[in-house]
Amino acid sequence: MSHDRCLYSNMVALSPVLVLTYLSYFHSAVLSFPLDQQSHDTSSCGYKSCHATVPNMLNVHLVPHTHDDVGWLKTVDQYFYGGRNDIQHAGVQYILDSVVGQLLQNPERRFIYVETAFFYRWWKNQPPSMQKAVRQLVDQGRLEFVNGGWCMSDEATTHYSAVIDQMTLGLRFLNDTFGPCGRPRVAWHIDPFGHAREHASMFAQMGYDGFFFGRLDYQDRTNRIRTLEQELLWRASESLEPPYADLFTGILPNGYNPPKGFCWDQSCDDAPIMDDPDLEDYNVDDVVQRFAAAANSQAMAYKTKHIIMTMGSDFQYENANLWYKNLDKLIRYVNARQANGSQINVLYSTPSCYLQELHRSNLTWTLKTDDFFPYADDAHNFWTGYFTSRPALKRYERVSNGRLQTCNQLEVLGGPSSRKGPFGAGDSETLREAMAVAQHHDAVSGTEKQHVANDYARRLANGWQHCQVVVSNSLAALSGSSAGRIYCDNLNVSACPLTEASKKFSVNVYNSLARPVVWPVRLPVNASAYTVLDATGTPVDCQVVPMSKATQQVRKDRGYAVNELVFQAQAPPLGYSTYSVSVLQNGPPSASVKSGPPAAIQNKFVRATFDPATGLLDSLTNLETQQTIKLTQNFYWYNASDGKSSISDQASGAYIFRPNSSSPFIISCTAETESIQTPELQEVRQQFGPWVSQVIRLHSNSKALEMEWTVGPVPIADGLGKEVITRLDSSIASSGVFYTDSNGREVLRRKKDFRPTWDLRQTEPVAGNYYPINSRAYIKDDKDQLTVVTDRSQGGSSIHDGSLEVMLHRRLLHDDWRGVGEPLNEMSGVFPLGLVVRGRLLLSLTPPALAADAHRPLAQENVLQPLLSFTEGGPPPGSLLEFSGLQAALPPAVHLLTLSQWGQDSLLIRLEHQFQTKESKEHSVPFTVNLQKLFSTLKVVGVSELNLSANQWIDEMKRLDWRPKMAAKPLRKPLGDPSMWEVILTPMQIRTFILRVAPRR
Ligand SMILES: [Zn+2]
Repeated sequence: MSHDRCLYSNMVALSPVLVLTYLSYFHSAVLSFPLDQQSHDTSSCGYKSCHATVPNMLNVHLVPHTHDDVGWLKTVDQYFYGGRNDIQHAGVQYILDSVVGQLLQNPERRFIYVETAFFYRWWKNQPPSMQKAVRQLVDQGRLEFVNGGWCMSDEATTHYSAVIDQMTLGLRFLNDTFGPCGRPRVAWHIDPFGHAREHASMFAQMGYDGFFFGRLDYQDRTNRIRTLEQELLWRASESLEPPYADLFTGILPNGYNPPKGFCWDQSCDDAPIMDDPDLEDYNVDDVVQRFAAAANSQAMAYKTKHIIMTMGSDFQYENANLWYKNLDKLIRYVNARQANGSQINVLYSTPSCYLQELHRSNLTWTLKTDDFFPYADDAHNFWTGYFTSRPALKRYERVSNGRLQTCNQLEVLGGPSSRKGPFGAGDSETLREAMAVAQHHDAVSGTEKQHVANDYARRLANGWQHCQVVVSNSLAALSGSSAGRIYCDNLNVSACPLTEASKKFSVNVYNSLARPVVWPVRLPVNASAYTVLDATGTPVDCQVVPMSKATQQVRKDRGYAVNELVFQAQAPPLGYSTYSVSVLQNGPPSASVKSGPPAAIQNKFVRATFDPATGLLDSLTNLETQQTIKLTQNFYWYNASDGKSSISDQASGAYIFRPNSSSPFIISCTAETESIQTPELQEVRQQFGPWVSQVIRLHSNSKALEMEWTVGPVPIADGLGKEVITRLDSSIASSGVFYTDSNGREVLRRKKDFRPTWDLRQTEPVAGNYYPINSRAYIKDDKDQLTVVTDRSQGGSSIHDGSLEVMLHRRLLHDDWRGVGEPLNEMSGVFPLGLVVRGRLLLSLTPPALAADAHRPLAQENVLQPLLSFTEGGPPPGSLLEFSGLQAALPPAVHLLTLSQWGQDSLLIRLEHQFQTKESKEHSVPFTVNLQKLFSTLKVVGVSELNLSANQWIDEMKRLDWRPKMAAKPLRKPLGDPSMWEVILTPMQIRTFILRVAPRR
């Protein structure tokens, strides 16, 4: 491109033709590749670099690969360097060193690499000569990146927003480093333990041509082998117009391992190819024969004349010579038999080369519209425990995602001084990388060793330290006050040294949503009366309540407050509001606590009644819609199988949930209760025994009933592992059907003891009906829908009609033999007797037609909770006490999913329609957003649209098209945008843009 950079700022006023030209300039300027890549063409990488195949023969695609977990038995650092080989022999740096050397020796050889978290570290340490050699390998398609995210994310316990971020991080590095030849064509999730529909939808929107994985239910696989349906077309969205979320999906034949007898890694014991006929151990004939048998047998289970063999496994290729030397020979000797009539052709290949051949076969493929959960590898081995494993880490990961979004936004809104300002130098990258690492399928999933879980948490905490500086600098720039800011990370157990000690302080409430929120603020304090003023100096209603015993117990010596101050804070869209709090002398005493259950708690929207005999919840009423259901709730535990009864007996562990009995044990039939009832706040405090308590709460403005649970230390003195659930039993006629979300987005229908695509033989009546809940689950009948919004990923089910259960905590005494080698028995310095976990569920009762209107915004508020920061004393005079980064709130259906700095004067933004088609009368319709009217402090002067992962221009994203078996309905034409600045969002659509911005005067 020859355009001068300075022309750019005139873009807005240009004629349409010129705008196109300038936009393409904008393209090259934003997705920037190294200089020597500028003239690069892609004629020798990607599909063009594939080896030729032989028509009419069985073509066996050998895919050399390594599966490198971004932390599992060792930390990500230990895996990279090869430290702690006493735990597991694995060193990724040596793998990449070795593979590159082997690729350079023979241009026929191929290798794929997956986890950018590792590749990026290795690349940084290479001298320019090595980088040049590797670039050439990539340009020639000899080294191919597949998947390409920072890690291979877990699919059951991740939130879509964090998955999109981690993919963007990895793919951006590949794009910046290698240009178009570094862009992966194939998504590759060979190890995750079940597969989410939302992941498939995201991969489709990221431009992948196909997707391969290794694990699915054993009954499902048997069935698909029989019907030749291990390759299929996944229609991954009910809302997005096909083929927008269609993804070709292939199930690998052997997990991700080589066929039996053909593993030539240093970690394997299979015989090498011994090809000197003069030596006694000569085995070429034997190897060729066994290989032909393996290939022919595999071919029986697939449709085309092409099959794929994954030649590698966990951390293999550290000494790549072993693999390649034998693979070279295998190819030579097997293909030599073609002269004698053999019909097998073996070649070095990659997943994309294999995919290309499937595409060329021009077949039609069965269409799948549900997902691949739950995953069982045998009759009593359901991998449904990890939906809940490590509940505190799961919550911390979710909180950290909210902090990262806040940090990203404030970095943009505060301008350059956010990174370097009055509080020093900060960055968002540290937390971005820590979050990306935490998405790995042994991280947030909870299936890592304890010391690795600690490492993930430490990384998130460290990332937040870096972000705090950005946030403080930015708030100083926006407010005009650089008074010191305190962040209280232990507010969930009501500990915050500043509010406990101070007589006068101010609270900044930053809201990262693009619409205003009202949020209950709850602070530990020691006086009994306070005045709270909003940003205009107007007093707001507040209440002081005595701190519960349960909170004092979990808080321990981290705080010393005796009371909690509660008020409703309002914060503007993408902005903050500041509240001033001061002790009121001679004020009214704090609210009184009455013992025993109240008949009911209620505000103007909701009423919950209690059984006076048991102290348990009894009914729930929506006062606006005048509907009431019978509703009880209690805590139970399943007795985890200990796996001792026989050698093949399966124990519950980090991965697997296997209760000994389908009936859980009740913890207590009654709860000791006390209550507080004031106009601002109504709560019932329930104690179910020494290790389970709950607060059922209604704030004056809330439309959802809050249930804050505290569970732990789970007792194990009886020698029994326990899996603790909360269960809601209602009068709703749910008829065996319930609903769970997929990665926090679209909702899937679940039916007890049923799978949509095969006749299930149910062998685990509880564990076999568990599904991941990432943000919500519900049951309904014609009249009533009860929706539960969660604060982290958890497992759950509906085992009885009208019932909905969520697993909260697991403490287990045995390993479940899936590799982690430790029982899931969490203890820590703070909780030496066992981990105590606290969280909350939000309950919403509505008619089904109005349910999404309530749960969509509720779940989003819960994921992106406001960030509170505190300053000692009153707000400095002259400082700006309220700020919004938006000119106006976005419509309720539109979520600002991403706002982060991309280049010096460019931003990455994602706008999301957060409603599904048909789920809301009011909101499931297209909305238009004017990009130029978005920001209050930034002028948008250029716009370009990208794919979901921001590594390709949307108009250049051309995916392979696949034909479903069923007759396709005629495609609807997508709605055209009214102008380049006004973009339309249809239900569940996410649109990704780079905006060029300038400060608004
Ligand atoms: Zn793995």
